[in-house]
Amino acid sequence: MDTNTNEKTGCLIIGSGPAGYTAAIYASRANLKPILYQGIQPGGQLTITTEVENYPGYPEGIQGPEMMVHFEKQAARMGADIRYGLATQVDFSSHPLKVQIDEEKWIEADSVIISTGASAKWLGIESEQRLNGYGVSACAVCDGFFFKGKPVAIVGAGDTAAEEALYLSKICSEVHMIVRRDEMRASKVMQERVKATPNIRIYWNSETDEVLGSNKVEAVRIRNNQTGEKLEVPVNAFFVAIGHSPNSDIFKGWLEMDEAGYIKTVPGTSRTNIEGVFAAGDVQDKVYRQAVTAAGSGCMAALDAERYLSAKGLH
Ligand code: NDP
Repeated sequence: MDTNTNEKTGCLIIGSGPAGYTAAIYASRANLKPILYQGIQPGGQLTITTEVENYPGYPEGIQGPEMMVHFEKQAARMGADIRYGLATQVDFSSHPLKVQIDEEKWIEADSVIISTGASAKWLGIESEQRLNGYGVSACAVCDGFFFKGKPVAIVGAGDTAAEEALYLSKICSEVHMIVRRDEMRASKVMQERVKATPNIRIYWNSETDEVLGSNKVEAVRIRNNQTGEKLEVPVNAFFVAIGHSPNSDIFKGWLEMDEAGYIKTVPGTSRTNIEGVFAAGDVQDKVYRQAVTAAGSGCMAALDAERYLSAKGLH
């Protein structure tokens, strides 16, 4: 591999969601002079949500994209060098660590903070994309509250779907849960809770034919994949909970990951199996996945990086 480098930094941050920008704020204030590459979606998943009401410090709530502008501005004001660009390859075989940007330039770094996030999986039907942000959402905890007292639908049958269906059942009038097989993948205890909740109705062997509505969700058309029978159910929102994919492909072969590709960190820290490489936010967290927990783990990663660099006499 040709890894001729033309730049060196003490701390390279990959990704620009709450984890990356928080890491940049802390690393800048510790005088690590971090360089942050924003990746393919500057601002991350919050740039595709609408209102955020659960991030502390915004008593009136805030639009997701606007909040990420605030994060970026704060990181820039502290001195972070924020750049457009995508990390396309890494070479963690020796120190300094090497990261390739946009398939051309290589950067050397004494420490690397990975905060590349995760992406929600979607069904891939036309109406899901068209009504995204207008009642179609991949995050019940973010958007459920906007449908208080209203009927909603959710697709998926894993632990996330079960957890989100239960969450929604406490806020919404009815939860229509669309399950493609005759059983759920979710853990037994979660399945039992879902089945025992009176306002959750499960549609077994069923798939989403289309989400209906011209500029907001009005109903969902459900198709039974055994009988072919179609059913229109009035709902005000449609939640997709069919899993997330961590954005960790370029680190495969270097970093320890679980079977789904989430980067493993030493519990209670952001340390990975490679010295000087830290992971923060959704790329290493499949359980909480909130902006505030991602920001918290970004802070941990910057503090871990600073301690590592000090201990090595590199800072
Ligand atoms: P999973 O991959 O476990 O489940 C995805 C679900 O979506 C499955 O039921 C799958 O159906 C369904 N699905 C996938 N594609 C489609 C599609 N195109 N149409 C309809 N349904 C579809 O993802 P989760 O996000 O639920 O969980 C990820 C991991 O995180 C799991 O290991 C889970 O246990 C863990 N987790 C743990 C939590 C906790 O401990 N509190 C909370 C949340 C998640 P099928 O079963 O037919 O494949």
